[in-house]
Amino acid sequence: MPTKTKTKAEIADIIKRIELISGENIYKCYQCGKCTAGCVMAGEMDISPYKVIRMIQLGLVEKALESESMWLCAACFACRERCPKEVDLSKIMEALRVIQVRDGKPLIEPEEVADEVIEEMPQQGIVSAFRKYN
Ligand code: SF4
Ligand code: SF4
Repeated sequence: MPTKTKTKAEIADIIKRIELISGENIYKCYQCGKCTAGCVMAGEMDISPYKVIRMIQLGLVEKALESESMWLCAACFACRERCPKEVDLSKIMEALRVIQVRDGKPLIEPEEVADEVIEEMPQQGIVSAFRKYN
């Protein structure tokens, strides 16, 4: 079933939530792209970090939330260190993940993890994955 398009008020509410959870002002970003130039995961992302923030500024939050980029962010903080406007994009990526998790999007369930993964993955990796996705 297609997802219902959000109203302007709902979009404004999501933007407020992103700012509240991240503690960042979305509108400080002036799109210089330095965050993305130094991002270790940008090449793997479907939407570049600086574009994610631009989409939020433009109210395209649904597209930003559908993106895989937030899940690929390694929270390495390179973007935060490089940003001339002191925007912490890692916190914005985290806020997007938190909103997805709180709004009940399907994530990983313990019983869905294959036995081989449990046997081969370091325990710390499994704990980290559950902290990130649940
Ligand atoms: S480095 Fe900062 S100002 Fe430049 S695009 Fe990234 S978040 Fe925006
Ligand atoms: S914190 Fe995330 S978005 Fe920022 S540079 Fe690292 S991987 Fe990229």
